[in-house]
Amino acid sequence: MQSLSHHYHQLIGLPSNWKVEKINLSMTGKQIEIRLVYEGKQVDCPVCGQVGNLYDHTAEQRWRHLDTMQFETILVARLPRCQCKEHGIKTAQPPWAARHSRFTLLFESFAIELLQHCASIKAAAQMLRLDWHALNQIMKRAVERGLKRRENDEMTYLGIDEKSFKSGHHYVTALNDLEQGRVLEVVEHRTTDAAKEALETLNQKQKESVKAVAMDMWKPFASAVQELLPNADLVHDRFHVSKYLNEAVDAVRRKESRELDESGDKRLVGSKYLWLRNPERMRQEQQEEWRELMAGEFKTGQAWALKNMFRVFWQLGCADAASFFFEYWSKRVDAVGLSPLIKVKELLQRHFDNILTYFKHAITNAVSEGLNSKIQIVKASARGFHRFESYRTRILFYCGKLNMAIER
Ligand SMILES: [Zn+2]
Repeated sequence: MQSLSHHYHQLIGLPSNWKVEKINLSMTGKQIEIRLVYEGKQVDCPVCGQVGNLYDHTAEQRWRHLDTMQFETILVARLPRCQCKEHGIKTAQPPWAARHSRFTLLFESFAIELLQHCASIKAAAQMLRLDWHALNQIMKRAVERGLKRRENDEMTYLGIDEKSFKSGHHYVTALNDLEQGRVLEVVEHRTTDAAKEALETLNQKQKESVKAVAMDMWKPFASAVQELLPNADLVHDRFHVSKYLNEAVDAVRRKESRELDESGDKRLVGSKYLWLRNPERMRQEQQEEWRELMAGEFKTGQAWALKNMFRVFWQLGCADAASFFFEYWSKRVDAVGLSPLIKVKELLQRHFDNILTYFKHAITNAVSEGLNSKIQIVKASARGFHRFESYRTRILFYCGKLNMAIER
């Protein structure tokens, strides 16, 4: 027994003032209980770190540890309480666990590793024999550790985007680091306050170092950036512009398809996704179908041509050339006279200064789009996020590229 106690003492990494008092093995419960006792006369105050006298002990507490030979292993101890001259009576921090955790640090480290490599959270929970709530707590602490370690990182190019949360019209604001392809923060709603709350997670130095922020033409986000990031340009990027153009083409198609349908012409029915694709990305049969539709001289075809023409805009080398092209394109839009496209043209005109900034910074929310699909996976693997907090925790856990390691 003596050597087994010694073995566990080393395995848990206990300091010399803690002793393994007893090891209880339950064959039927497949459980090992390791009872620990504090033998010091003095205790470190958890607030100031100064040494105080031992006052008394707390009631017994239990921590889940890594399994031993497939036996669930539990540490049991009464924590010493310190009598600090400054802070009064305080419960000491156990060397094997984080504050308020029911798990040892080694167990949490293992759980984090496993979660990062498991295809689904459910699979990890089963392997660890943990319930959803316990796993959530471990992830939450891991994210908090990671966020604290981020304060020296440099931030140059950011993206702000909205995402849907739950089903229906409930949104969150996501702040992304475009250079490192990671989510920095997620806040409920898509208001100026939400965007400001996300930006406030940056320290002053980081705020000053941001050169530009890519975003949709959405006033609340723009206001927040202008207020909090003194040196940042706004860039209404090509992903959002493309989204508006695609929506305009689809609006033209729907109207035209309805009109044709009335006279029994169904050629546009079911063609929605064809118009969203770039011809060079179409498969052979899609290309043929598309050419046929273009030959039909539909209004939808004209709308599509205007959308496709706009791709040139982003390839021009400088703001002057881009402005010149935009004027030409706007005239074409007016000449064709389709109102959904005219509306997009007017929208772009109103925000034109912050579209031209692309030629200074060349950033897009393409990274955010990539993160979006990763977030979709996180969402799908945990059906029904009822609480925003756990949604945020999971996004930051999987898409935040945080250093969540536990240091002992
Ligand atoms: Zn103290």
